[in-house]
Amino acid sequence: MPKSSALEKASDPSDFRELGHFVVDMLADHLEKTQTDINYPVLSYRDPEDELSFWQQDFSSDSDIKDVFQYILEHSINVHHPRYMGHQVAVPALVSGLAGLISDVLSNGTGVYEMGMAANAIEKVVTDDVAKKIGYSIGDASGFLTSGGTLANLTALLAARKAKAPSSVWEQGHQEKLAVLVSEEAHYCIDRAARILGLGSEGIIKIPVDDQYKINTSVLESYYNKAISEGLHVIAVVGCACSTATGSYDDLNFLADFAEEHNLWFHVDGAHGAAVVFSEKYKHLVDGISRADSVVIDFHKMLMTPALNTGLIFKKAEDAYQTFEQKAQYLWDSQQTKEWYNSGKRTFECTKLMMSIKIYAILKSFGEKVFKQNIEYLYDLASTFAKLIKERPNFELAIMPEANIVNFRYRGVVALDTNAVNGEIREKLITSGTFYIVQTRIGGELYLRTTFMNPLTQESDLLALLAEIEHIAKALS
Ligand SMILES: *Cc1c(COP(=O)(O)O)cnc(C)c1O
Repeated sequence: MPKSSALEKASDPSDFRELGHFVVDMLADHLEKTQTDINYPVLSYRDPEDELSFWQQDFSSDSDIKDVFQYILEHSINVHHPRYMGHQVAVPALVSGLAGLISDVLSNGTGVYEMGMAANAIEKVVTDDVAKKIGYSIGDASGFLTSGGTLANLTALLAARKAKAPSSVWEQGHQEKLAVLVSEEAHYCIDRAARILGLGSEGIIKIPVDDQYKINTSVLESYYNKAISEGLHVIAVVGCACSTATGSYDDLNFLADFAEEHNLWFHVDGAHGAAVVFSEKYKHLVDGISRADSVVIDFHKMLMTPALNTGLIFKKAEDAYQTFEQKAQYLWDSQQTKEWYNSGKRTFECTKLMMSIKIYAILKSFGEKVFKQNIEYLYDLASTFAKLIKERPNFELAIMPEANIVNFRYRGVVALDTNAVNGEIREKLITSGTFYIVQTRIGGELYLRTTFMNPLTQESDLLALLAEIEHIAKALS
């Protein structure tokens, strides 16, 4: 092969070194600008068709890879911006991004031990640490990392089915009509998981919520009894910690009692909010979590880790190993042995990213206290924002936030109806690139929704957001 062949160039260490320095400099410049220049956009919004034609043109041009990297940066949302207040994606601690670079270059598959010695061992260290924080007894509990809360919730419900269905669905297919109980405010992935499990709409029993959008505990028993009388076999109850739309924490102790009384699996979807186990100040929100059979916790939400990166932790390690009973002779000799280091026995994935090293890099650099500080700062910021909203007659707060999620809307007098005004406000904010917030429907009404993810967001940014909303609304009337 000639020295300049594409194949040789693709693995040239000196090109990698040179380009790597360029990329790190580019990102560092971007981060510096993000932190010092408030006019630097959160998002340079383009319509989907414009964006597509930009890349179609680029694809057929001879642009340099350095230009391409720069374009990707300019055409992507900037979650590091203090005025990014939208979806619940962590603003990654920068060191975890560097661990991600190592993961991508080394590309260990991690599903079996030799394909990720460090990653598998570190995975046990970090998931044991979370298990301890949840209050599980170490030795009995165990967990693993998997690709996202959606997949982790599905895996937890598979474990629930294995543990609580009267017959083995894995071997015989469905013999009974199975069902799970869950708040109507649960993340849509629970509904989707239950359908993938073959439960159908009948098998997803949605419990109404109270005025704080928490599962209404006073009606749970009657929904359960109704399901039983209709011939359903209820296998699990799922608690939200917290719900996605409003950040409401279900009463986990109540659900734990209920699960014990009816011999149900108790699963906690703590993708967003179980992270409070790291905070003395806020961990009361998940009182009772140690009684759950399984807990999902996204490191890529409140725990400063790049997406995707999710822990699924079981109170009893046994349960994790029984979910998937399959032979894969080329991977391991026996599915029966329960060694921690072949993570593929317990996960849906076969090949898996080296997720653990990104978490470990944060813990080793800053200690666990960085998680506590992040959570407390962001949850406190939401209380501050709620207070600012309540002080302003033109604004209405949906509910007092328990987490870092605040829903509100503009109620000042303008010509349009309230839903239309708030929809316009959100649209103008996004397309101007000044702030990024989202919207949600609560009781059919449109609300603006902010989630504070960036510890660099200040009270002054919150005041500026409210002022900007007033300004946009005035221009509409
Ligand atoms: C984000 C979220 C999910 C989904 O997790 P992904 O990591 O996005 O797949 C599930 N449940 C809750 C409560 C969430 O906040």
